[in-house]
Amino acid sequence: MNQQVSRVVQNLRASVIRDISLRAADLDNVIMLGIGEPDFHTHDRVCQEALRDAMAGATHYTPSQGDTELLHALVASINAQHHLGITEKNLVVTLGGMGALVACFRTVLDEGDEVLVPDPYFPSYRPHIELVGGRLVPVPTRFEEGFVVSPEAIAAAITPRTKVLLLNSPNNPTGAVIPGPTLDAIADLVQERDLLVVSDEVYDRLVFNGRRHESISTRPGMAARTVVINSFSKSYAMTGWRIGYAWGPAWILEPMTRVVSHCTSCSPSVSQRAALAALRMDPAVVDAMMREFASRSRFLYEGLRRIPGFRLNQPQGSFYLFPDISQVTDDPYRFALDLLQEQRVGVVPGFPFGLAGKHCIRFACTVSQDRLGEAVERIERFVLNRTEPTVVMS
Ligand code: PLP
Repeated sequence: MNQQVSRVVQNLRASVIRDISLRAADLDNVIMLGIGEPDFHTHDRVCQEALRDAMAGATHYTPSQGDTELLHALVASINAQHHLGITEKNLVVTLGGMGALVACFRTVLDEGDEVLVPDPYFPSYRPHIELVGGRLVPVPTRFEEGFVVSPEAIAAAITPRTKVLLLNSPNNPTGAVIPGPTLDAIADLVQERDLLVVSDEVYDRLVFNGRRHESISTRPGMAARTVVINSFSKSYAMTGWRIGYAWGPAWILEPMTRVVSHCTSCSPSVSQRAALAALRMDPAVVDAMMREFASRSRFLYEGLRRIPGFRLNQPQGSFYLFPDISQVTDDPYRFALDLLQEQRVGVVPGFPFGLAGKHCIRFACTVSQDRLGEAVERIERFVLNRTEPTVVMS
């Protein structure tokens, strides 16, 4: 009977991140740094307002494009951030950032079209692209260059079938942020080669070390060929509400809304009311949460870089760290499993994120600084005590 499952789905791997979480669930006293989910709960006020709206009748389908008030509020918020003068025609609300990615690829890709993706990358991108008949073409980045994609590497990967360049800055898993001048050069290349850009900016609020988030859509000429993906999951600690959105040129967003209308009808009405409440919340609440992630990130960076054999770039954004541990082990998967078993620290091996990350492990700063400090001590103990012959004590 297995032949009746499509080839793409037969090849769909279970998520390694979820596998590590399942293994951790059977153990006591685990410091879980595996899954990229804020540990904060959604703010009380957001929950209360969503509940109040549900009690008042926000329990029906909304327009496929999104709750009217949420669309207005999002337009205002996007224009305040990027000054591109978008309107409701340029926007659709989706089931998380993931829903936006799938609907976007469904809208723009034909069978065999290629999507260039800087490697390492968020593992779900591959199914998002392949499930609609596209091909993911990795564009290698280098540890030594902070895992920032170069325009030259992008140019070298372009073929006659290339349709889209997918960018993710700030990046999961590397913490890299593409600097402005690199964005300029990428924007020039993309226009010269007539490509679309899908810019996944779900970590746009999480940028530090004096850097600031810039969207490639703001570069001259780029608004007409860029779809920006965003989400309430990370910035507002709202992963479970499943609200994301995409904005970009109406020639893509209008057909994309038709895709959404047939696939999901609309996003959950009560969750959209929660998203509206989040947008109306005092921005200081979100800023405080973002500052906490930035400070944890710095703290973990300082801790990990003291561990013998760990090499890492200082993260510029998102809440991930992605050290190269090739001086400690040639098998980061085994390392992650043993670390979990012996020291009760959950991390994710690099291979699901692509070839360029195969020597790395990913940390998500989703526990308090105290727990991060404890995790560093446990990892150090683990590295110093293990017997694998490749350990370098420098
Ligand atoms: N894009 C990136 C880079 C992510 O890391 C994630 C979640 O981890 C998403 C998109 C999707 O997030 P959500 O569907 O919860 O909005």
